[in-house]
Amino acid sequence: MALDFTLDAHDPSTAARAGRLMTAHGEVLTPAFMPVGTLGSVKTLAPDELAGAGVDMLLANTYHLRLRPGVETVRRMGGLHRFMSWPRAILTDSGGFQVLSLSELRTVSDHGVEFRSHLDGSRQIMTPEDAIRVQDGLGTDIAMSFDEPIELPAPQEAVRTAVDRTIDWARRGFSERERLRAEGGGAMALFGVNQGADDPVERRRCFASLGELPFDGFALGGLWVGEERSRSLEMVEHDCAMFPADRPRYLMGVGHPVDVIDAVARGADMFDCVLPTRNARRGTVFISTGRLVVKNAAYAADARPLDPACDCAVCQRFSRAYLRHLFASGEMLAMRLASLHAVSHMVRLAREARAAVLEGRFGAFRETFLERFESGETLEPRSARRASAARRRVEDETQAGDRPSTEEMLDDVE
Ligand SMILES: [Zn+2]
Repeated sequence: MALDFTLDAHDPSTAARAGRLMTAHGEVLTPAFMPVGTLGSVKTLAPDELAGAGVDMLLANTYHLRLRPGVETVRRMGGLHRFMSWPRAILTDSGGFQVLSLSELRTVSDHGVEFRSHLDGSRQIMTPEDAIRVQDGLGTDIAMSFDEPIELPAPQEAVRTAVDRTIDWARRGFSERERLRAEGGGAMALFGVNQGADDPVERRRCFASLGELPFDGFALGGLWVGEERSRSLEMVEHDCAMFPADRPRYLMGVGHPVDVIDAVARGADMFDCVLPTRNARRGTVFISTGRLVVKNAAYAADARPLDPACDCAVCQRFSRAYLRHLFASGEMLAMRLASLHAVSHMVRLAREARAAVLEGRFGAFRETFLERFESGETLEPRSARRASAARRRVEDETQAGDRPSTEEMLDDVE
């Protein structure tokens, strides 16, 4: 069963697209933002809340679910959709990124990766074939090829080796899905993951081989990992121009609102990131006019919703003053409400981008969005703050990378 992807419109002034993915668990509108349900749960939120926020598809982590509760448990419980009571689409990563960033004592060879679990130190091995079998066992709608991401800066030789391995592992993973299909399984769609760091020559070389295989879509890997933001965006433009127009393009691990809109303008269709929800649990949310640190005392008597322009369930009912009070008091509801706004906000941003593409006005939409976001107008008394300062802050935040540090990821796992 191939993944059915329909392109509804192209923006006339940018490379932005509006499309629809049809999965076995419903339609996914693109551009799409996927919240991250690392362990089969988007932290603090119930499935009904995610559906209410308009989420079509969420992401779950293969590495974490394989270690706990284990793929056999999930399989016995009827697959991940049933286990977590989520009726809509699920995309799983291959586990490669987490294996390389979280596990200890890892050894990478052409065969695969040998590592010790970050949970109990047990010795594990993950091969490209395992990654496909585990994702199939979870019952995902869209699986990712096992790849070798690389941390930047890296020597040229290391980038080349990682690309060679990524190509070989993609072929082996693709064959494994073919083998599963011959046995009656492997119904999931499979994406190839393009690597090559911020080197356009290596990224082109990687895709020259990946593109020979009939993958259902292609992901952009290894970006926003420490290189300049402008460089990352160049690579998005570069990859999207090579990728076939009739298949979806997924920019992995990117979720700052400005990055998402800038990447949509360059032709990316799908996004995921822990950033909006992780920030929310710590009392910071993105709103249409920038970044709001709601736990600040400045909001103690602010009767406005988090984002006056947001129609989410939280902004319809609760004030900044109440949210600030909940954070100051350590109430669990604080994290839940902030997370619900955070997910709703990103999903709505993607929907607005889609509507703009459909109406041929994405260029204007993007300009208005950036102008508002960079205004940084979150505090009434200082609403005249210069936009340039806010713009510098946006640059700082995004350049710092949306990829969390290992420490933050483990914190996210907890
Ligand atoms: Zn809201």
